Amino acid sequence: PPRTVLISGCSSGIGLELAVQLARDSRQRYQVVATMRDLGKKGTLEAAAGEALGQTLTVAQLDVCSDESVAQCLRCIQGGEVDVLVNNAGVGLVGPLEGLSLATMQKVFDTNFFGAVRLVKAVLPGMKRRRQGHIVVVSSVMGLQGVVFNDVYAASKFALEGFFESLAIQLLQFNIFISLVEPGPVGTAFEGKLLEQVSAAQFPGADPDTLHYFRDLYLPASRELFRSLGQSPRDVAQVIVKVISSARPPLRRQTNARYSALTALKAADPSGRLYVRSAHRLLFRWPRLLSRGLRCLACGCLPSRVRPE
Ligand code: NAD
Repeated sequence: PPRTVLISGCSSGIGLELAVQLARDSRQRYQVVATMRDLGKKGTLEAAAGEALGQTLTVAQLDVCSDESVAQCLRCIQGGEVDVLVNNAGVGLVGPLEGLSLATMQKVFDTNFFGAVRLVKAVLPGMKRRRQGHIVVVSSVMGLQGVVFNDVYAASKFALEGFFESLAIQLLQFNIFISLVEPGPVGTAFEGKLLEQVSAAQFPGADPDTLHYFRDLYLPASRELFRSLGQSPRDVAQVIVKVISSARPPLRRQTNARYSALTALKAADPSGRLYVRSAHRLLFRWPRLLSRGLRCLACGCLPSRVRPE
């Protein structure tokens, strides 16, 4: 029988693309429950799903920040049984932290971290009873290493990494697998929404030097990063499909080989100095080198896996 896959955040981006790819599986291995907070936005997904709609794909309402919404959604699934849960819903936050309120930061954790925890708590008893299940988490390379001016977003993804790595140990005992998927930059509405937030925000409380570093160094570098190394949501979804169909799913899976030159800097030096110093130098000392380097990584004239001494 097909496996029931519940995905959060399917109105756009990676979630939408993943729902459609799974629903169109040539071997019809999946029954997809594609969920979103606001059903008013289901048009794009339904159009992309085409004939799969009502067959291998159903659309349901789900706000990961609401207990009631989660309970309601699971009641609508036959038997309430979820075989594969994909925690995809997430929001970004960039900017100097002196200019961000605690309430804004907490909202990021409520969605990215507690949203995933809430869903896991709801499906785990069933998975444990059946002694089978797979929980996939759309983390980020920022769950592996910090990125300047993304302090709170990165923290929310680190939180997911710690939580799910811990849980993975216990759940092996129940034949339940955990997979943390870590994309680099992806060309979705995500970056656009962030830039919109940023251009409207004043960041009251941030000093002029910090604001200058943020607006004049970080923002252009970030745009260049998306332009040169950005993946499509389709590519990321393809990696997730592979992870879901794997007989022995990996705990961690990065999606962007070109970005691994940057994650390798942290792995290569446990003291953390190599990564933090390199990231600092690239942004604050040699911003032009940074954009040239990114372009070279993208065109392939730099090896994608750097092995520092
Ligand atoms: P996106 O903005 O298109 O998708 C995020 C989805 O989450 C949206 O559909 C949004 O409506 C939904 N969402 C937000 N709050 C929600 C809530 N309370 N309940 C239910 N849904 C909610 O962007 P995306 O790039 O497709 O993001 C998907 C995931 O990928 C996120 O977890 C994000 O952190 C992660 N990610 C994105 C990038 C990137 O560069 N775009 C990189 C690494 C990881």
